[in-house]
Order: sequence, then C-alpha cells, then structure tokens
Amino acid sequence: MEVNILGTQYKIIVKNYDEDEAFARRSIDGYCDSYKKEIVVCDMNTYKGWEHEDEETKVICQKQTLRHEITHAFLSESGLADSSATFDCGWAKNEEMVDWIALQGIKIYNAWRQADCI
Ligand SMILES: [Zn+2]
Repeated sequence: MEVNILGTQYKIIVKNYDEDEAFARRSIDGYCDSYKKEIVVCDMNTYKGWEHEDEETKVICQKQTLRHEITHAFLSESGLADSSATFDCGWAKNEEMVDWIALQGIKIYNAWRQADCI
C-alpha cells in the first residue's frame, strides 16, 4: 500500500516482529524512514508480549501506530523533522506531540468537515 504525503509517495509496509530487527532493538512497533520513503508497522499479532491481547485491541493499536508514523512523515516532508532538533526534545520529534496529532487528528478533521472549512 502507498500513501501520498504532501506529494511524495510513501510505501506502507506491515512486517512481522521477527522480520525487522528494529522492532526489538529500538523497542518500537513502527517507524517512518523518510530517506527510503517507507513507513513500517509491526503486525501486532506477532509483537512480543502481545500474544494474548484481544484482536480489537491489536487492530486499534496498529492503526494508531500507522497514524503516528504518517504524522512523522508529514513533519519530515514539511522540512520540520530536523530543523526542530534541539538536544533531547525538538518539538517536531517530541513523541507526545506526535501522539497528540495521531490521536486527535480524526477529531480535528471531523470538526473541520462539520464546520465546512476544508
Ligand atoms: Zn514517533
């Protein structure tokens, strides 16, 4: 699957936990590679420690991770990812801020749509 990020095509790749050492090495369930224009998300059915989570939780988590990584891609393609860098906590690399957009983006979009301002 591909997604258009501000005019640049990114591949969305779902991998099993054991297919990509980055999941274990970085304790992550997804990442955005803005150099290769790839967004990689772990299939949560294979994520270590998630074997007993219910299916709905896994689906919700995987979608949330994908929104998070797409948000990183938007910031990268905007030229904001590196320009914001300060030691420890540049705002465009701040995980809480990215999570906030990933969690609230749908609500913001719906509010924009309801207000007919898109
Ligand atoms: Zn992140």
